[in-house]
Amino acid sequence: MSDISVLGIFVADISFSGPKIPSVGETILGNKYNVGPGGKGCNQAIAIARLGGKVNFISKIGKDSYGELALNTLKKNNINIENIIQDEKLQTGVAGILVDQNSGKNAINVIVGAPSSLTINEIDKQINLIKSSKIFLTQLEVPKDVTLRCLKIAKENGCVTILNPAPASEISKEFYNNIDFFTPNETEAEFYTGIKITNEQEAKQAANKLLNLGIKKAIITLGEKGLFYTDGKEEIYLKASSVKAIDTTGAGDAFNGGLAYGLSIEKPIKECLELANKVAGISTTKLGAGDAMPYLKAITNI
Ligand code: ADP
Repeated sequence: MSDISVLGIFVADISFSGPKIPSVGETILGNKYNVGPGGKGCNQAIAIARLGGKVNFISKIGKDSYGELALNTLKKNNINIENIIQDEKLQTGVAGILVDQNSGKNAINVIVGAPSSLTINEIDKQINLIKSSKIFLTQLEVPKDVTLRCLKIAKENGCVTILNPAPASEISKEFYNNIDFFTPNETEAEFYTGIKITNEQEAKQAANKLLNLGIKKAIITLGEKGLFYTDGKEEIYLKASSVKAIDTTGAGDAFNGGLAYGLSIEKPIKECLELANKVAGISTTKLGAGDAMPYLKAITNI
């Protein structure tokens, strides 16, 4: 049994780091590239496993070289792969990532591949695993009917549910009712609330609007500014760690992984947020997404 189940996608991230993100029609000479694991779900599962959490990853991949990369990466990180569906007729996903080495900011094009065809029937075979987990964490990269079905089953069976609502897209009222923690970044929070966030006050307004939609606890991540949390009673604002960010790809995933792990070991919310904030901060100091997730040792050292 795993403490945490993550539903999501694996993609091979092909990232190029250079002096800027090229504009349309422009060619630049970069200086470093990396091919490594990516996909929000996979990154979050790696973050949890590297902190010492027992995690089960539910996903779908193709039977190709990037599918091999997926299985090797997951095994190497001690992630349970019994629930990975492999389909030889489909391609494993890939993401093309352009990174500005000065700010660590990026532009990304994701081809989801195999998991875009994930169905409720396929996933029903893994449902017992979700039922027996303490925490269920997911995002919006697999078909929404599958995501909603898993959130509902998780909630009915007493799991704490976390939806990292990314990439931002419309979700029904039913989603909100089955979410304990909702973890958008600033742009995603603006999408769901219509409130543009430029300071703590606006983050608070947006978070309260999210609570009114039916979720129980809102965490808005604010990039290099940190995060804002509220459950309607308690409010916590944390500044980001002061690190030299070179690639922020996967920072939100590191954050969600850290949060899920903290909740699984029943830490109080403030400590969960501090841990997630640290994990995310450290992840920005390395190129790549899944590969940049820190080990527990790196967290306790700061
Ligand atoms: P996403 O990666 O989903 O866009 P954010 O950009 O909000 O999400 O980042 C998520 C978290 O990562 C932040 O709340 C913070 O903890 C950490 N983080 C992001 N950028 C930086 C940075 N430049 N320095 C330190 N921490 C950062």
